[in-house]
Amino acid sequence: MARVYNFSAGPSMLPESVLKKAAAEMLDYERSGQSVMEMSHRSKVFDKIIKDAEALVREIMNVPDNYKVLFLQGGGSTQFAMIPLNLMNKNNKADYIITGQWAKKAYKEAARYGDVKAVASSEDKTFTYIPKTDKSMFREDADYVYICLNNTIYGTVYHELPDTGDIPLVADISSCIMSEPLDVSKFGLLFAGAQKNLAGAGVTIVIVREDLIGNAMDITPTMLDYKIHADAGSLYNTPPCYTIYIAKLVMEWIKNEVGGLEKMKERNEKKAKLLYDFLDSSELFKGTVVAEDRSLMNVPFVTGDTELDAKFVKESTEAGLVNLKGHRTVGGMRASIYNAMPYEGVEKLVEFMKKFEAENK
Ligand SMILES: *Cc1c(COP(=O)(O)O)cnc(C)c1O
Repeated sequence: MARVYNFSAGPSMLPESVLKKAAAEMLDYERSGQSVMEMSHRSKVFDKIIKDAEALVREIMNVPDNYKVLFLQGGGSTQFAMIPLNLMNKNNKADYIITGQWAKKAYKEAARYGDVKAVASSEDKTFTYIPKTDKSMFREDADYVYICLNNTIYGTVYHELPDTGDIPLVADISSCIMSEPLDVSKFGLLFAGAQKNLAGAGVTIVIVREDLIGNAMDITPTMLDYKIHADAGSLYNTPPCYTIYIAKLVMEWIKNEVGGLEKMKERNEKKAKLLYDFLDSSELFKGTVVAEDRSLMNVPFVTGDTELDAKFVKESTEAGLVNLKGHRTVGGMRASIYNAMPYEGVEKLVEFMKKFEAENK
């Protein structure tokens, strides 16, 4: 069996021990005589899986008691509508910071439902930095302020959160969930599609402060009302059972094998440092993001020559380092080095880059 190092932005690598456990449990989950894929979501066995998964989210992320943890479908993108429908409910206003395509999509979707303002943007420089904001830039009567915490396509991250005063802060954490500690109490709502750091595609985790739900707009479809899902313990309809089970295994890996989010952060910093240090010393490759806003998860880089970039992508693929092609709006390459990417994967990548640089001077 030859497994590759997969640098895809998502879906992405899962810990090998998780895949092995899932394989071992495929035909008979804990003596139930069935796969988790086959069992009723109303069964006792599955009820324990989803309750354990929620408990793990709460424990690992240190979620305060006045927050609901929901397992929903529709990906991160459905949250772009669900958030305004549920939260833009007092003054019908929300402020957005535009740090890339995902934030922009969220902004455009929200604009269908109310008075939405883009208070800052880094589009002038192809989103290579996080724009500075201060409290005075936000409208006092905004129902929430929206950010995308880690920008998957452009490789930027907020190292410091914007100060929004009393206005609830909402953040898309799809590409950085559980990659390092995060103070949940600073947010009104957090959400993440699972397919980057937690499981396969299919489940979206929403962590929302209780006082923000229960006031959805009248036009809100039942399935897009947080309250409906919160009241039903994420079992209003059939949830993505198997993906929730995989997320549970990944969280057990984070808790038991990695040792929690402080340790996860150390691992991620060590991996990212190896790659960034090389980029800073290379004469051929260059990182595209300003140093102070660099992401630990997504690392875009270029040679400055599109033909050489294409050659790099082709040859790295042949070497078992796959999905390094950059997003079409940035060009070049992007290495996504999520939680499950082992240190050796980044070592192999840097070795390969050194060799490529020597051969293509
Ligand atoms: C991948 C991604 C999304 C979109 O997620 P889907 O589950 O495909 O809808 C949204 N935001 C960020 C930051 C992402 O990385």
